Amino acid sequence: MADHNTASAAVAPALAPLIDIGINLAHDSYDRDRDAVIARAHAAGVVQMVVTGATLAGSVRAVALAREHPGRLFATAGVHPHHASELDAASLSALAELARIPEVVAVGECGLDYFRNFSPRGAQQQAFHRQLELAAQIGKPVFLHQRDAHDDFVAILREHAARWRGVAHCFTGSEDQLQCYLQLGLAIGITGWICDERRGAHLTALMPQVPAERLLLETDGPYLLPRDLTPKPASRRNEPAYLPHVAAAVARSRGEALESLARSSTAAARALFALPPV
Ligand SMILES: [Zn+2]
Repeated sequence: MADHNTASAAVAPALAPLIDIGINLAHDSYDRDRDAVIARAHAAGVVQMVVTGATLAGSVRAVALAREHPGRLFATAGVHPHHASELDAASLSALAELARIPEVVAVGECGLDYFRNFSPRGAQQQAFHRQLELAAQIGKPVFLHQRDAHDDFVAILREHAARWRGVAHCFTGSEDQLQCYLQLGLAIGITGWICDERRGAHLTALMPQVPAERLLLETDGPYLLPRDLTPKPASRRNEPAYLPHVAAAVARSRGEALESLARSSTAAARALFALPPV
């Protein structure tokens, strides 16, 4: 499409400020030029970002980044299902301490991943229970990951019903799964997966079903570089400056103006994570 044809379009400032609710900014692929990545994001209108923590050590790094950029970067603290078997009593109490830090705005990334099963399913379920309990104790939302584990994921969320708020990050599921999540009260995180005409086409049709006050945007960088970005960076690394490109795809799918989607998704992100205005 015409608006995808130039490099400048990919990083053009959004009409309204955006918030990247899922960026793995502590990832080592950003070690060489992290400040430039942050500067490009701000130049593109991405005014705040929630840095994903996926391990205890990664969450500590996410918190450090948030402290270096007060009011702009925030962190999640959690243990991804891939690392669930690492969550013993000692690391759980360290995580609980970390999660209480003001810069930490959610518990997670947590959930279930039966696609890879890097941790045994039983360990994944236990780690998920513990992190839902932690979020309830400290009154913060959960940042949720689910892959090929929908039924168990929903069953565990139901067990903890009414004690959590949260977002299903990187939603790529079916209409039934979307409706189930919406009934549970989840917010929905949409990534550049929607820009993939092979894998993401079904998401386009689902976008009008997501209430504006529950639709959040994320890059999940350095992963999930939007497939239709032109030209693509040689590194194939995704970064938060490409969030306006994802926002434009979501807005088109909803038949909505980009500015209106930007305004509602930014308000929704601030509400869920209790972020201050910029
Ligand atoms: Zn994830």
